[in-house]
Amino acid sequence: MTYQELWQTVLAQIQLNISPANFATWFASTKIASQEEGMIIVSVPNSFAKEWLEQKYNKEILKILRALDSSIKEISYQIDFPAVKIKELVKQPEPQELPMEQLGFAELETDKETNLNPKYNFQNFIVGPFNELAYAAAKAIVKEPGKVYNPLFIYGGVGLGKTHLLQAVGNELSKKNPPCKVKYVPSDKLISAIVSSIRNNSIEDLKASLRKVDVLIVDDVQFFAGKEKTQEEFFHTFNDLYQRGKQIILSSDRPPKAIPAITERLKSRFEGGMVADVSLPDYETRLAILKQKTVEKNAEVPEKALEYIAANIQKNVREIESALNRLLIFQKINNKVPSFEEAKKLLRNIIVSPSKFTNPTHILQTISEFYDLDDKNLFYSSRKKEFVKPRQLAMYLLRKELSFSFPAIGRKFGGKDHTTVMHACQLIDREIQESEKFSQEVDLILQKIYTLDA
Ligand code: ADP
Ligand code: MG
Repeated sequence: MTYQELWQTVLAQIQLNISPANFATWFASTKIASQEEGMIIVSVPNSFAKEWLEQKYNKEILKILRALDSSIKEISYQIDFPAVKIKELVKQPEPQELPMEQLGFAELETDKETNLNPKYNFQNFIVGPFNELAYAAAKAIVKEPGKVYNPLFIYGGVGLGKTHLLQAVGNELSKKNPPCKVKYVPSDKLISAIVSSIRNNSIEDLKASLRKVDVLIVDDVQFFAGKEKTQEEFFHTFNDLYQRGKQIILSSDRPPKAIPAITERLKSRFEGGMVADVSLPDYETRLAILKQKTVEKNAEVPEKALEYIAANIQKNVREIESALNRLLIFQKINNKVPSFEEAKKLLRNIIVSPSKFTNPTHILQTISEFYDLDDKNLFYSSRKKEFVKPRQLAMYLLRKELSFSFPAIGRKFGGKDHTTVMHACQLIDREIQESEKFSQEVDLILQKIYTLDA
């Protein structure tokens, strides 16, 4: 049996037991890379797939492999990164002023014909529970454009990978054999092209050129809101493509229903295929994305710094990336890997208000761990001295870090009066000012609240 046949047999069995979306997500682009004595090396497209396969599917895969070849003892998963062309580093007199691109971070060219940038591909796209569905749908389209989900409508907040995913589909399809003719357009570009072609009497040319494609990708269609002429022209183009089985892929920052001021008929077109959302990545995925980008950029960053970024930037992958870039710039300029402390300093004004990213439970838990108390005693109105101070501090931090109201804090602590809470906060405030030792203690606790393992 060749590796390929062996792996196909494994996949065929796995496929019987898991959902198609899961299968597409975790097993796409996997293969057996080599075999060394009792060890099978499976190559996987990204670190997320690696972790996932190791943790969730290893046992099953091994069982199937061993049934086929009893000499196989273990499996090792290895990430197969795509080769990334990196532009030459440009020397500049004042490196601090350099824009990101000139520092030689993987910067790739956008294709003039398709408008696609090859830096967005599936190999460097991390999949997690938050984008699994959108990813699986995208992959299904790559297999059979125009057949499975048409249109595919992906929506989600800013910086969560919509453009990346859309372009990855486009890139993959334009590489297909025979290649699909793909066109990617950000909707604001499309709007201004339509407006100016109406003015120049060349709208028919524009429409004809859009109708020539096999795959039309329009990014951020929420900008169509209120643009009646654009909506009208796009509606006809959409219908024409759709009827001829051409694939349409759209993205927006909200679901079709929630886009204001677009016509019902266009809305119902948008909803007519598959609507998939991308939500916020969880901590593990944020860390996986960071690790992936670090490898991609050929950089070295202390694990603790990556964890710090992943823990503190939660809502936007683009921000996660720019935090990482900041560390990489430091590295290029100073020719050394930043220490964890330096990294924290560099990120200080990106991680604006960490208070948003903690919660009462975590604060209370950290305090009770710090003072070695049983968590419940904090809530409990014990008058013992060793509980009073931590409880007051907890009240103070709920107020200061999470802007809880005094009555809300009182309720949290077994229905205490809001004046008691105010008094506690004043006491703590004063003690912080008066006692250097106590102030350091509070700093230490805050640090524990906001970092993972400080
Ligand atoms: P959106 O279009 O949703 O605003 P983008 O696709 O522009 O977001 O993503 C912002 C940045 O974050 C891009 O550089 C992209 O490569 C990166 N990114 C987002 N999601 C992922 C992911 N799941 N895996 C890897 N990189 C991601
Ligand atoms: Mg986008």
